[in-house]
Amino acid sequence: MGQLDQKVFLKTFGCQMNVSDSETILSSLVSEGFSETQEVRTADLIVINTCSIREKAEHKLRSMVGRLMKMKTLKPNVKIAIAGCMASRAGKSLIKELPGVAIIFGPDQVSLLPHLLKEHERTQKPVVKSNFEDEAVLFNPDHRTYQAKTSGFVSIMKGCEHKCTYCIVPLTRGVEKSRPLQSILNEVQFLVHEQGLREIMLVGQNVNGYGRDTAFDFPKLLWRLAQVPNLKRIRFMTSHPKDCSQDLADCFRDIPEISPYLHLPVQSGSNDVLRRMKRGHQHEQYRDRIDMLREAQPRIALSTDIIVGFPGETDRDFQDTLDLITSVEYDFAFSFIYSERPNTPATKLKDDVPLSEKKARLFELQKIIRELSYKKSMTLLGTTQEILITNLKREEDALVAVGHTDTYKLVKAVVPLDTQVQDLIQVKITNHHESRLFGESISPLGYTHTKGHLSYDTPQHPTAPLQ
Ligand code: SF4
Repeated sequence: MGQLDQKVFLKTFGCQMNVSDSETILSSLVSEGFSETQEVRTADLIVINTCSIREKAEHKLRSMVGRLMKMKTLKPNVKIAIAGCMASRAGKSLIKELPGVAIIFGPDQVSLLPHLLKEHERTQKPVVKSNFEDEAVLFNPDHRTYQAKTSGFVSIMKGCEHKCTYCIVPLTRGVEKSRPLQSILNEVQFLVHEQGLREIMLVGQNVNGYGRDTAFDFPKLLWRLAQVPNLKRIRFMTSHPKDCSQDLADCFRDIPEISPYLHLPVQSGSNDVLRRMKRGHQHEQYRDRIDMLREAQPRIALSTDIIVGFPGETDRDFQDTLDLITSVEYDFAFSFIYSERPNTPATKLKDDVPLSEKKARLFELQKIIRELSYKKSMTLLGTTQEILITNLKREEDALVAVGHTDTYKLVKAVVPLDTQVQDLIQVKITNHHESRLFGESISPLGYTHTKGHLSYDTPQHPTAPLQ
């Protein structure tokens, strides 16, 4: 059977980079005649794009492959491929651990799956390709033709120059490589002009390190992309505090298309912990960056990542983190218990914080994060916000939209019946539940569209951070 009749089921774990990589994987398969299925039982090919950043993600992958192997006994011809950071980290050893997997490929081979499938068909042996490639293969724009839904994720760089002691990214994605400017422009123009997207999200492990290996830099890239006609919003993730420059802050002030939202991981408020993490910044420098950003763009919304229970974290260190979180007043924060990753420098540090203490700290931290998010949402009550619609649903006789503000707050609102996905509409914020917002659209004639009760069935932050 040729690939024309074949269906692929793709499951993505992890960060925006993985979401972007999955779109490339799907593009390469669709251009070879595959179609996507949401039902694993109907698939001829199952691709799992994995994450290695926390141990939990690897556990999920193993249990999913176990379930698929049972299914394979009933449908022996189904092929299973494992992609992503875990494939890159574990490589050939995964074949021994998970016999029956046909293909293992790393983040640098995301556009190569059709070739790897042919190699597997020819040799009838497992194929493993997870080394670091050059950017010509990695960033091949010909493979980004799959219909983007609402995301418009555009990968602009890969890898990371920083060497945080807890992080597996330098081992799984290698050193920083910037994507050529023209290749980025081609993809953005395709997404905006051919697929009608209004917003793009630039992704990379450290997007503001873009251009370190070329003559261009990240602020210049933002200025160039802002010239693309009909592109209304540009977001990006993730940024490193050390590479957050005055030029970048000025972009938030001077480029209307740049959404006033920045995810700036701090990881800890304690200078001792930051030093052991080898973050390359202290909390005072981080606070200076926040002040610089807010001075340039007072509306800017901020989120961060926090690791609790890093080896050696004392009560005083943890209190420093709580103090920092409270004083910055983030709009949102992602928080995690430290998870030891194989072969990272932090594995040599003595982990002397009991798990019960880590859990208690996480609980306390998350309570504060929720309170801060709640307070930020309260400030929007009664205001009018421009919402980019990403999802529409008929509920009885009304049309209900989910979208986000330019500061990346999710809003659910009743909208006019002729509203389309990707429309930008004005919404008056009327209510909120915790940090989730509800509103009424304001039509051009000044009418508001209301409905009795709205509730959420989607998470507020649908995408997880990179680091
Ligand atoms: S945590 Fe981020 S900045 Fe640090 S090494 Fe990992 S990807 Fe790079």
